[in-house]
Order: sequence, then C-alpha cells, then structure tokens
Amino acid sequence: MTDPTPADDAFLAILRARLGDAHVLTEPADMAPHLEEARGLYRGSARAVVRPADAGEVAFAVRVCAEARVPIVPQGGNTGLVGGGVPHGGIVLSLARLARIRALDRVGATLTVEAGAILADVQRAADEAGMLFPLSLAAEGSCRIGGNLATNAGGTGVLAYGNARDLVLGLEVVLADGRVWNGLKGLRKNNAGYDLKHLFLGSEGTLGIITAAVLKLFPKPLSRAVGFVGLASPRAALRLLEGLRRAAGPSLTAFEVMPRFGLEIVLAHMPGSVRPLADAHDTYALVEFSSPRPDAAAGAELEAALAAAIEDGTVEDAAIGASEAQNAALWALRENLSDAQRYEGGSIKHDVSVPLARLADFLEQAEAACLEAMPGLRPCAFGHFGDGNIHFNLSQPVGMDRAEFLAAWARFNRIVHDIVQRLDGSIAAEHGIGLIKRDELQHYGDPVGLDLMRRLKAALDPQDLLNPGKVVALSDKPPPALP
Ligand code: FAD
Repeated sequence: MTDPTPADDAFLAILRARLGDAHVLTEPADMAPHLEEARGLYRGSARAVVRPADAGEVAFAVRVCAEARVPIVPQGGNTGLVGGGVPHGGIVLSLARLARIRALDRVGATLTVEAGAILADVQRAADEAGMLFPLSLAAEGSCRIGGNLATNAGGTGVLAYGNARDLVLGLEVVLADGRVWNGLKGLRKNNAGYDLKHLFLGSEGTLGIITAAVLKLFPKPLSRAVGFVGLASPRAALRLLEGLRRAAGPSLTAFEVMPRFGLEIVLAHMPGSVRPLADAHDTYALVEFSSPRPDAAAGAELEAALAAAIEDGTVEDAAIGASEAQNAALWALRENLSDAQRYEGGSIKHDVSVPLARLADFLEQAEAACLEAMPGLRPCAFGHFGDGNIHFNLSQPVGMDRAEFLAAWARFNRIVHDIVQRLDGSIAAEHGIGLIKRDELQHYGDPVGLDLMRRLKAALDPQDLLNPGKVVALSDKPPPALP
C-alpha cells in the first residue's frame, strides 16, 4: 500500500477538476467527522474526503486513485462498530451524495436505491408505496444502505426477514480498477453462473464499492402486538421462543432479550422510561407478533400464547402494549440499552452468535468465566436472542478506572471467544470484522476459509487499495492498536 507524499497531490487536482472543489475536502474541520468511528475507539487520517455524485464519478475517482496507488476507504453513514470505515491514509470515499431512489417496481415488489440513501429514507419510500423494507436498526436515521449491505447488517427484523444479504436481488459495484459491474437485476431466480453479489455483500468495502442495489419489499404488516415478558432465566427465554414459534409461526417477528441489569440501567438513565412489570425478573424478553390484517388478530394471538406460557410456568409475568404508543415505549426499553450502558462507565463488547440450542450454555459459561477473571464486573448480555445473536457486553466494576478496565479488552476477547468457538458459534455475528476483530478472525478462522478470503481479495483488488488492512490483511503490517 502506498500513501502518496505531498508531491503526489496531482491525483487530488484531477479529482477536483471532475468533482468540483466543494466535493474534495481537505480542511481538517471538514474531514473530522469522517476520521473517527461511532464509539470513538479509532481515529484515523486521510489525504482527502471525496464526495462523488453518481456511480460514474465513483468509477472515475477509483480509476484515478488506482493509477496513483492511493488507498480508498468507502464510507456510508460512518455508524459501523468495528473500525471498518476509519481511514489510515489514502482517501475516504463518501457515498453520501448517491442518495436517489432510482426505481420502484410495485409488481415485482422491489426498490432500486443508490448506496448513499439513508436507511430510514429507504424504509419511508417502501412505506409510501404501501410495502415494507424490513431492515431495522437503532442507527437507521444515519446509516446508509450501502453501508448496511457492505456490513450485511442484522438488526431487529432478522428473525422474520433475514439479514441485509437476504434482502438484496441485485447490485451495482465499482471494482478496484474502476470498472462498473452492473448486476442490478431484480430477479427472484437467476442462476446464470456464480452469484457475484454475495461476494460484495458483507465484504466491508474490501472487494468493491457498492453504488446501488435492488432491494426486496414485503407486504406491510397492518397490525402488531408487543409484549414485555419477565422470565426466570435465559433457559426459560429459550423455551418461550420455541413455544411462540410453534404457536405463531411467521407471525413472530421479533424476539429480543435483555437481563435485569440492562432494564435497570435503562430505567435509571433514559428519561421517559417506565417500568413495564411490577416485580424484577432475571431475564426479560421483548416479543412482537405482526399480522397482515388491520384487525386485532396479532394482539389476540400474542395474549393467548403468553397466557399459555404463564400457565405452564415458562413465563413469570408479562405486559402487552395496549396502543401503538405503548408498543413503542416497550421497544424503547430495548433500543435504549446501548446508550444506557454509557452511563455505567467503560463497556467491553462482543457481538457473537451461537446455535440457539446452546445460547443458555454460552451465557452461563461466559458470565461465570468473566466474573472469575474480574470480580465485580457487570455482565450485560442482550440482543437478538431469536437469531442466536448476543451482544455480550461487560460493564466495568463500579469505581474502577475506565481506561484500566478497557485495557483488559483483549483478555476478555480470549475468554469469551474461546467459549464461542467451543460451542460452534461465530465471533462476529452482525457488526462485522473491520479492524477490531481482524486478529481474532486470524486466530479462530478456518485456515482454508482464510486462504480463500485472501485469494479473493488478491484477485479482486491486486493492489490492495480497497479498505486495506480490514477484514483480512494481504500484508503483514499490523492493524493500528486500540487507543
Ligand atoms: P459505515 O460505518 O460508513 O461503513 C461500514 C463498513 O462498510 C466500512 O467498512 C465501510 O468501508 C463499508 N462501506 C460503507 N459503504 C460502502 C459501500 N457503499 N460500498 C462498499 N463498502 C462500504 N449493526 C447491525 O448489524 N445491527 C444492529 O442492530 C446495529 N445497531 C446499531 C446501533 C447503533 C446505535 C449504532 C451506532 C450502530 C449499530 N449497528 C448495527 C452498526 C452499524 O449501524 C451498521 O454496521 C451499519 O450497517 C453501517 O452502515 P453505515 O452506512 O454507517 O456504514
């Protein structure tokens, strides 16, 4: 990887001539928001932030950078949580100006959008057409669809609709040499050779730059019911999940779980939060049933299913939202948990998944091992339980120095990820690898799989210019250390 010296500024002049001065940012204040990631764990540097207006300008910028051997970090909303969008030299290529909805196909139920469209705007466009784009996550007001696809984002709709990868029919991608691959077909069946889009989905900007996508739309649920459920343990939560799936099938559209500590810190720190159940419980589940009918079917189904679960002892107590406002308030308890953790000092985070049947084993083993390693630690394991995906977060012991606690991150990675590996899980469930887990992937990844990844990277980006050093590294250069 070559980061040009000031003498190589010619490439910036060429970019300015085509994109305009206003879209090749070099002032530190203009670049600052693009150089740091959401949690402030990584801060980088770049020669410029380049803001093309369309796929043609993206291709032009990539060609110019390829000729000058300048690394490129694609960036959407910069909400990623693994340091993947942070540059370490080269340029940031922001997709923010490619924000058009190109086409809506009502018959085919597809939406063709540009990569820089904000996820909430994509959802709104589907909604205005009377349909649903089900990808949903707490950053949806600022993350962009290209970033969602590049990270194969998950979120709260995976149980019913799948990950971002499952919601895509076609892609348009600018390759490392500046050519444009036009794979923008909206076909439900297309076995014409290798399914190339899956190479780019989830590749975190290391194989190509996504400029547009054909997305799948779904019928819009016309009623929903939300329940907040008190349980004695994660094992009881698993039993409830099994029972609800049996009772409701596809009507079960969310199954999120949080621990007692999680609910208590949301109630303590997030204004407007209301305790949903009279007594405290070890574990809470947020469950949602949806119905394509505009009647009370979802509410009646959820009430019956929870009544049966109380009857057979699986559930200790439950509350069901009586209005859309109450439903939203119950969801907010879960969605505000990430923010609430900030008030409890440092948090060491692990985004992992294990087979559903082993989820309770994982939680028991990982919590015990972490508490043994650091008594006083406050585990806060929550998340997309129905997908087998847990955000296994550890809040620092009360009174401990934050920096001293965060310095133990690598130690806890080993403890937690060893257990994940033993249980046949994944050390990276939905946020990706980026920089933060690059070495962990090297440590735990299947050697043959890692070799294939490196070969793919070398074939598609032989100069190692697209987001170099992220996910899999072609050179031995170590990634920048955590601050
Ligand atoms: P960025 O952060 O800009 O980029 C992410 C990665 O994708 C980088 O490696 C970047 O180089 C690459 N990239 C960006 N755009 C492109 C493109 N057009 N072509 C090629 N590569 C590109 N994630 C989940 O999966 N589930 C959640 O529930 C979830 N909740 C979150 C809640 C909060 C409050 C926050 C801050 C983040 C959350 N995230 C979640 C993480 C993050 O929002 C997602 O990873 C999101 O998909 C990133 O989109 P972005 O546009 O911000 O991408």
